[in-house]
Amino acid sequence: MRVLLIVLALLAGAFLPQTQSVPIPERLFPETGWRVRGRLLEYWNSNGALPVFGLPLGPQRTATTPEGRFAAQQFERERLELHPEQNAPYDVQLGRLGDELLRRQGRDWRAEGRGETMAGRCRRFATTEREVCGPFLRYWQAVGLELGDAGVSERESTALFGLPLTAPRYETNSSGDRVLTQWFERARFELHPNNPAAFQVLLGRLGAELVGEQAPLPPLAIQPEPAAVLQGHTLRINAAVAGATAVRGSLGAAPLAFFADSDGGWRALGGVPVLTPVGTLPLRVEADLPDGRTAVQEVGVRVVDARYRAENINLPQAVRDMLVRNKEAIAAERQLVNAIWPQATAERLWSGRFILPAEGRRSSSFGTNRSYNGGPVDSFHEGLDIANAVGTPVVAPARGRVMLAEPDLLVRGGAVILDHGQSVHTGFWHMSAVLVKPGELVEQGQIIGRIGAKGMVTGPHLHWDVRIGMVNVQPDEWLERGWP
Ligand SMILES: [Zn+2]
Repeated sequence: MRVLLIVLALLAGAFLPQTQSVPIPERLFPETGWRVRGRLLEYWNSNGALPVFGLPLGPQRTATTPEGRFAAQQFERERLELHPEQNAPYDVQLGRLGDELLRRQGRDWRAEGRGETMAGRCRRFATTEREVCGPFLRYWQAVGLELGDAGVSERESTALFGLPLTAPRYETNSSGDRVLTQWFERARFELHPNNPAAFQVLLGRLGAELVGEQAPLPPLAIQPEPAAVLQGHTLRINAAVAGATAVRGSLGAAPLAFFADSDGGWRALGGVPVLTPVGTLPLRVEADLPDGRTAVQEVGVRVVDARYRAENINLPQAVRDMLVRNKEAIAAERQLVNAIWPQATAERLWSGRFILPAEGRRSSSFGTNRSYNGGPVDSFHEGLDIANAVGTPVVAPARGRVMLAEPDLLVRGGAVILDHGQSVHTGFWHMSAVLVKPGELVEQGQIIGRIGAKGMVTGPHLHWDVRIGMVNVQPDEWLERGWP
């Protein structure tokens, strides 16, 4: 009985043990194609983010400097260095990019003169015998790392920018502007007096100057076909990007598995979950490039109302008691089948259209929205039910490999799952006989079992699932058209 099957599946989901591990936080910056993760991301976020550090310009990697070897990552304005032997916040330190760039230019700041006079209050730094004045001093005092002091303390400003090395003088910056400039151990201040007040002091892109400008990311073109998809239906996603080594993506919350085409493009199949609200579903694709960068693109897929029927099912107390009594076995069975759906093998075993796996009366269609005992609509009929006499042959709808062949599961009875490749699976429940073995390759039309009334059912029928990854899709669509 399909009603019971769905309820059981739902309950089992709720009872699954929570075993997921906490992922290391990671952020991909689509502007430059590099990722920042873990402690460095946390540090970047909590100490000024984009205006202070800029975008990442490379991966986290081992750096060798006069101070030693450590993991480091280059940003537009800073180099963040990991020193795990120190306690936070000193486990992340900033590279002395100002000093390094001056040395690279052959400038000995100690030998330089007094430079320009800047109006306003000044502060003298005895260690380097330099003064910081006016707008530069105001900026230096207003910005710093977060070391836990009230406001911005002197040690917090020093930790971020370091001490002044040069006197202010006019220099031509990387944008070609001639501006009043002062170098610090870890920064270069530039005065832009014509800017709005908040942007008169800008920080030089020392990191970018140190590592050089990067080539722009190659364009990543993604095209969903069709661009508007009915709830519960299948779509194909084509992706094109020069030189990609791997492509992955997601449609809403569901991951997409991409496979290389013979013509150099990449392709994935996806499904729009039945209960997706009408509107736009984000389609995001990431392509790894040979230089370590990742190109990202996001478009919207329009979700169209499939007008599935809705039904409310009243479960008697005895059934609810039975579900609770068997919750562990039900959860174990669901885990068994749910471990199979996400597996994506690259080889596409099917070609053209699927065929109906059994003859008989369609006793329940795909997608019917369901609520239980007057509750919210939170489930739906996941497949197509075909009712017929016990013993009616069940055939493979397409070529595929047997991933599961169980003669008598508690809920699903005689059960088979076929892997057709490229994340497409089909499932067959309630069979009285299972005639294939795990690992076996079956051809389209080959008998894999017989219709039965095993598992939690009220009468003999075949329940047929078509899944792309974890997403159940409308089986009829796979009979009507071939997905190349
Ligand atoms: Zn069913």
